Amino acid sequence: MNPAQSQIKRKREGTRSREIFKRAEQVLVGGVNSPVRAFRSVGGEPFIVDHGRGQFLYDADGNELLDYVCSWGAMLLGHAHPAVTAAISRQAERGTSFGATTEMEVELATLITSAIPFIEKIRFVSSGTEATMSALRLARGVTKRDLLVKFEGNYHGHSDSFLSQSGSGLATLGIAECPGVPEALAALTLNAPYNDLNAVEQLFSHHPDKVAAIIVEPVAANMGVVLPEPGFLAGLRDISRKNGALLIVDEVITGFRLHNGAAQQLMGIEADLTTFGKIIGGGVPVAAYGGRAELMNNVAPLGPVYQAGTLAGNPLAMSAGIATLKQLCAPGFYEAVEKRARRLADGLRDAAEKAGVPAQVNAIGSLATFFFAPQPVRNYSDAKKSDTKRYGEFFRNMLERGIFLAPSPYEAAFVSAAHTDADIDRTLAAASESLKN
Ligand SMILES: *Cc1c(COP(=O)(O)O)cnc(C)c1O
Repeated sequence: MNPAQSQIKRKREGTRSREIFKRAEQVLVGGVNSPVRAFRSVGGEPFIVDHGRGQFLYDADGNELLDYVCSWGAMLLGHAHPAVTAAISRQAERGTSFGATTEMEVELATLITSAIPFIEKIRFVSSGTEATMSALRLARGVTKRDLLVKFEGNYHGHSDSFLSQSGSGLATLGIAECPGVPEALAALTLNAPYNDLNAVEQLFSHHPDKVAAIIVEPVAANMGVVLPEPGFLAGLRDISRKNGALLIVDEVITGFRLHNGAAQQLMGIEADLTTFGKIIGGGVPVAAYGGRAELMNNVAPLGPVYQAGTLAGNPLAMSAGIATLKQLCAPGFYEAVEKRARRLADGLRDAAEKAGVPAQVNAIGSLATFFFAPQPVRNYSDAKKSDTKRYGEFFRNMLERGIFLAPSPYEAAFVSAAHTDADIDRTLAAASESLKN
């Protein structure tokens, strides 16, 4: 170990994070407000964030951490981007919530609908959970059917209908079915393996005229990154149409992540309803669901499907979202981020090979997951075969070297526009060392 590393190691054992986390455990459940933040599946101590800038987080002990979590994908521009910060501060001085419409809501909605022409109308909410929950209610309301088809290892937030065989924190904690979800409601959710059209066909033939919607992540990113195989999404589009069910594509992670628009546009499909979150709020709580006007007009006040929100379309959040989406239009924006992400993914594959570690790096755009798995990962059961203990060691080794990967084997690494080539080089060097341990 060289002196710089030992210094990092010593510093990372700072006491201030530990002291704050101890207090956090007294008053917050598990010391956190979202389970994966507790590092339960990777071990080690969660650090307390003091502030963030660009590609870095700074913890309460003054350690600089290269951040590949990026608020679970929300911070595509990196932390405290000057344009976003300026927009938020300007708005803060003009009022933070009105409970009445502002022009900014029109502007952010227009930025989304003009990037994605098959989405004509939007409703803003405050979290991805609300967006998917509301889209499902709308689908049930218009089809007058109750069943939902979803995929094992996909995550659509924490509302009752989505909590069986779910990805993200439930995968991390090994929670297959969640206590508190009434059995009668859970029975309405049918699961199929990702990338398995036959299984979906079978569910439809067992439940003719009963399925309101299929919901899918166009690139699964909550069981680690798992790509849709050719024909999978188009197949879902066909099956849903043929059976009078709606297709809900959950783009809470992928929306504006892979290009300036929806992942669907790259994959050649058009959903009936699409959900957004994360990036469209630029790190302030915003999410949305949208689709054709004829469908969206069933939502109150135009239609009977009720959905509302005190802070929905919040002006601070709208200002951050607008400032963020405007940056994404810059020529070459996505190419630059992807080039670095590709170097990261390729470099990680190389590092694993050189270290003789069986690994799969699933990647697309600025999303990547390093699975400690000898076989390709194309669905949730493959992902669960990966060596999660080994991932925990890797995570802790990287953190000691000042690199913050997702504190769970079932999440993506997010590369932001703030990450540099030098950051990627440093990450790959740290990965090579960590894999040798
Ligand atoms: C994060 C996420 C959600 C939930 O969003 P929250 O804002 O955390 O409620 C839903 N769907 C997908 C695909 C997500 O990645």
